[in-house]
Amino acid sequence: MPYLIVHEDKCIGCRTCEMVCSLSHEGVVNPDLSRIHVLGYKGEKFPIMCLQCEDAPCELVCPMEAIHMQGGIRIVDDEKCIRCKMCTLVCPIGGVLYDYINHQMIRCDLCGGDPQCVKYCPMNVIELVPDDAVPEARKRGVRILYGEAD
Ligand code: SF4
Repeated sequence: MPYLIVHEDKCIGCRTCEMVCSLSHEGVVNPDLSRIHVLGYKGEKFPIMCLQCEDAPCELVCPMEAIHMQGGIRIVDDEKCIRCKMCTLVCPIGGVLYDYINHQMIRCDLCGGDPQCVKYCPMNVIELVPDDAVPEARKRGVRILYGEAD
């Protein structure tokens, strides 16, 4: 299973990643429709997106069991989803978003294995790496934030 790794120290905050994400998924340049978002913290900028966590709280909290892994990518089943937005509330990094235009939950889907943010980031901030290149702690990152893992 591939993961996206962020080299936050390289980011210049140009938001190209947001633009190519919304363009490739929705056909328009609109940061509100992007599945990756550039945040600012203490003067630094860096992108954040769904980290494809193991034991993901979004999947656990969903009352409709609409979120599941498919080919190593966590997806939302639009047919089952009732848009209660619980998944957005429990994700501590804001990796699950509500699209107020198309009224659906959106999240990084790794562009089916060819992430456009990786391809077009001018600073090579975002990297797609294989499973064995990611530490176990990173995979369980959200659980660590909640104090549920070492
Ligand atoms: S495209 Fe790259 S450099 Fe620009 S904001 Fe996104 S991550 Fe940062």
